[in-house]
Amino acid sequence: MPTLFTHAAVPLMLGVATGPRRVSGRLLAASSVAAMLADTDVIAFRLGIPYASAFGHRGALHSVAFALMLGLLAALGHRQLHSSPWRSLGFVGLAALSHPLLDACTDGGLGVALWWPFSDQRWFAPFRPIAVSPIGRRFFSTQGWTVMTSELLWVWLPTAMLALAIACWRRSPTSR
Ligand SMILES: [Zn+2]
Repeated sequence: MPTLFTHAAVPLMLGVATGPRRVSGRLLAASSVAAMLADTDVIAFRLGIPYASAFGHRGALHSVAFALMLGLLAALGHRQLHSSPWRSLGFVGLAALSHPLLDACTDGGLGVALWWPFSDQRWFAPFRPIAVSPIGRRFFSTQGWTVMTSELLWVWLPTAMLALAIACWRRSPTSR
């Protein structure tokens, strides 16, 4: 996985760039949580569930189905998120989906069960430039530096550029 704060940073940066009129503070917070939630499945290691199992790490919680479920929950709670049902579904759903897609671009571990429950097969993207983050405390090791620089280059930088483009578009007269 990329590190948790990198997962959260993607919807945070894009949401802030989109502006509070379209993405409320609560929607922003919910989408950041949604982007991190998939990795709660690391508890599977403690429970003795094998990595490659459907409910192991990068299994069911790293699927399109799980992202869609989080999006639907957000749509149901759209009033609490101070947003419309469709916007809540879209923003939280895409934030959640960004998690397995980024994991699929990492250079280690197993792939993600993107199409669970229809298939348990683990999937990797054809292009995997992101250095995989060690699971647990091992992050604070020499490998941590490699992971940080890799995430800055392959996740933070492109996301920041996209956020900048969105912010510029917002300021253009055609967006009003
Ligand atoms: Zn993950």
